[in-house]
Amino acid sequence: MTINLLDFDLAGLTRYFAENLGEKPFRARQVMRWIHQAGEQDFAAMTDLAKSLREKLAATAAIMPPRILAEHRSADGTVKWLMDTGSANAVETVFIPETDRGTLCVSSQVGCALACTFCSTGRQGFNRNLTVAEIIGQLWLANRALRGVGLGERPVTNVVLMGMGEPLTNFDNVVTALSIMLDDHGYGLSRRRVTVSTSGIVPAMDRLRKTCPVALAVSLHAPNDALRDELVPINRKYPLRELMAACQRYLVQAPRDFITFEYVMLDGVNDTPAHARELIALTREVSCKFNLIPFNPFPDSGYRRSTPEAMRRFREILLEAGHVVTTRKTRGDDIAAACGQLAGRVQDKSRRSLRLATGAHP
Ligand code: SF4
Repeated sequence: MTINLLDFDLAGLTRYFAENLGEKPFRARQVMRWIHQAGEQDFAAMTDLAKSLREKLAATAAIMPPRILAEHRSADGTVKWLMDTGSANAVETVFIPETDRGTLCVSSQVGCALACTFCSTGRQGFNRNLTVAEIIGQLWLANRALRGVGLGERPVTNVVLMGMGEPLTNFDNVVTALSIMLDDHGYGLSRRRVTVSTSGIVPAMDRLRKTCPVALAVSLHAPNDALRDELVPINRKYPLRELMAACQRYLVQAPRDFITFEYVMLDGVNDTPAHARELIALTREVSCKFNLIPFNPFPDSGYRRSTPEAMRRFREILLEAGHVVTTRKTRGDDIAAACGQLAGRVQDKSRRSLRLATGAHP
């Protein structure tokens, strides 16, 4: 069986080299740099390795990222890739260039089992977790695809695990991929430049805090349990009081001194001045920033985007209370790459689509 070296972080690669190839740890570090820093896929081109090692590697291992099925470059510089994950499934990865950084939005699962009602991914159901190679392979491929387009040698400066899936329900693979992103022999990104976005899996937030405390974003979307139970069903398991306490605990180890709360703006559902005031009260013990996301409608979503006036009013109330508020630009709208729009292609194994269609509970 051919071993996919993209599945290993440095610790795993070192172990594989020692146990299977009889090679020293510094060889693993060299190969790690070839793979992730040089973007090299061909062992023969790894010229500072002994020829015998190159031959051993070629006979037993390979560097196998997912296959790119489609690439779409939008007028504002946003790039979206559809990546093949086999069995008629595909996930999406999006690159968003800004003046001072390039952010890659990475998927962690094929679909998502959590069924947030406003989310296009959640509507498609869940198929499986992505492997480490499929998660890190998105970054590997994006860096390769973006080189030579005037963005320098490392076009991706920031990574957000905010694509398809709930990263913290694919914990081990996500943490291994994070460790490659942070490793000096990998992508060398600082913990501040890597963000995990969760819908609020409280025990996994605590595990992340202890094992790999990168920046954290929480998909909040509602200021009270009754509404959040409806919009983000995992709230029934981990209600807001527990979630806010987990955020406070996370801040002790977090690389930034705030948590980002994501809040999708749904017309007439969660966007009134009363909701804004409730949100201020809910988060008063948590150092935070708010990211307001204009909802991007998709077929049969049942929701509408908040009006510009409602968004402005909501934002003002948060600002007046002294909060930092950003409003996400709906960049890449023309290629459906804004938040909650990552559709991919999911063969639902949880039969959620069917339950939704028949009105059964997710
Ligand atoms: S918003 Fe996130 S957690 Fe909720 S269904 Fe969509 S991908 Fe899953």
